[in-house]
Amino acid sequence: MRDLFRKIRKTGRVAQDAPRAPEPVLPERARDLGGSVQIRHVDAGSCNGCEVEIASAFGPVYDAERYGARQVASPRHADALLVTGPVTRNMEMALRRTYEAVPEPKVVIALGDCARNCGVFAEAYGVVGAVGDVVPVDLEIPGCPPEPEAIVAALRGLTGR
Ligand code: SF4
Repeated sequence: MRDLFRKIRKTGRVAQDAPRAPEPVLPERARDLGGSVQIRHVDAGSCNGCEVEIASAFGPVYDAERYGARQVASPRHADALLVTGPVTRNMEMALRRTYEAVPEPKVVIALGDCARNCGVFAEAYGVVGAVGDVVPVDLEIPGCPPEPEAIVAALRGLTGR
């Protein structure tokens, strides 16, 4: 235990300095959210590249939580859905049900090119379509995969912090 505390003290703070707060991307929603957004992540068929970048965005270096963005386990506790990947046949119903379980007013974020327009999986036999073909999308984060800075910036645009 003492070794652990020593290591923590030696390592210090690793989080990057916070850039200036971006303009709210959805001003009315940002006002409703009051500086805090609870996010339920749904992998609708991703290759997991986007998940690696999400993990990084919420890790100690980029630390999205310090701007009021937090991941939750249940859609019933969420303000926003963060959807990755093209929507596969096996995940279509699960995505619809998860969307319905999120209380109003809700925000849907399509993260990554696959979520936005099916990306490299366009016209694949197991793909139903992009996220916007299944549930209404409010915000898109482009990239394959988007960098953690872009993910954090988009979430800060929601929380306004
Ligand atoms: S956008 Fe790129 S990294 Fe993300 S799921 Fe699609 S192929 Fe993978």
